[in-house]
Amino acid sequence: MEKTFSQFELAPFLEKALQKMNITTPTEIQQEAIPKILQGDAVVGRSKTGSGKTLAYLLPLLTTLDENNKELQGLILAPTHELAMQIYRVLEELVAETNINIDVFIGSANIKRQLEKLKKQKPQVIVGTPGRVLELAQQKKLKVHQSKMVVIDEADRMLQERETRQAFIEISKRMDKETNYMFFSATIPNGLKEDIEALIRSEVTLVSSDEKLETEKVEHLFIKCEERDRVDTARRLVHSLKIKRGIIFVNHLDKVEETTKKLQYKGLKAASLSSDSDKHQRAKVMQQFHNGEVEVVVASDIAARGLDVEDVTHIINLHPPVDKDAYVHRAGRTGRMGKTGEVITLVTHKEFFIIDKFQKQLQIKMTEKELAFGKLR
Ligand code: ADP
Ligand code: MG
Repeated sequence: MEKTFSQFELAPFLEKALQKMNITTPTEIQQEAIPKILQGDAVVGRSKTGSGKTLAYLLPLLTTLDENNKELQGLILAPTHELAMQIYRVLEELVAETNINIDVFIGSANIKRQLEKLKKQKPQVIVGTPGRVLELAQQKKLKVHQSKMVVIDEADRMLQERETRQAFIEISKRMDKETNYMFFSATIPNGLKEDIEALIRSEVTLVSSDEKLETEKVEHLFIKCEERDRVDTARRLVHSLKIKRGIIFVNHLDKVEETTKKLQYKGLKAASLSSDSDKHQRAKVMQQFHNGEVEVVVASDIAARGLDVEDVTHIINLHPPVDKDAYVHRAGRTGRMGKTGEVITLVTHKEFFIIDKFQKQLQIKMTEKELAFGKLR
């Protein structure tokens, strides 16, 4: 029998919202995580990219929420502004027909305006980047300690980067024992669960679904090229494959802009998504990517974590990613919810061994291709 969302006894408004979103069958991680969270377990949830982790935590969080209690009850932390905004939009859709107050707090937004907004209306659920949420808590503008549910999205990244880790630790110190924690990511490295348990001083349950990368729908390819030809190879790929929605990953933040400029100069509709550019700039790029004005986004690893852009058909790794987890997150921007996609990694002779390493570690087949006469062969 096909599973439905009614098995979970979600708040009735959520059932309606899901219907409106055309979402009928829970994904594996949703089936695993929702009952555990509803029964009050602290969880670490892992499932592949694009498998619906956002709803896996938002649905139980909103079901547990008491609409009549006007205090802050839920806090969702995410590493980047884009991701926080994306989660906020899903939240908005879910509560549209209710009186639940929600808000979003990200580092680059004007803090004065945020403070004024907070004076007018107290949110019951907030999404934010850890730095800004902590700042507002320290100024006593946000009573984070009231929050009974705390979600850490992209948990490995959040707890590995010094700044976000520190902010999380400070925020968690304000929480009481009853706080219900949820940590999610596509990659949960060894030791992270124990690290989390030490940080929140309580046991967490690991819930996960099928950890292999989706290989039937996403093709993993690589092309050999010379160091100096990387950008031009990427350009030829975009051109030859007629890529209308692709992401080119670079390994170093300071190469994002330079790479974009080179591609633009060659006539590609390219734009950068980097944590360096300001909030408006990045929002504009995401908008243009959505509506097709931008065909390739050049991004760093951090900028692209968790982003859910529909129909990204190609991922080009200008360099091999630093490790297998980085590969998983990059590749995960395509092939979302069973769609097809191609991941193409450019390697020099010296980097050739990395392909073999990834194939073993990720249990995927990576196929060598050549770009000749405008075709991949
Ligand atoms: P993840 O965080 O695991 O990478 P997301 O939460 O961003 O994935 O979800 C990816 C996409 O799948 C979103 O566009 C979301 O609307 C959609 N989605 C989530 N759950 C379901 C479901 N049960 N059925 C169909 N689509 C879903
Ligand atoms: Mg996600």
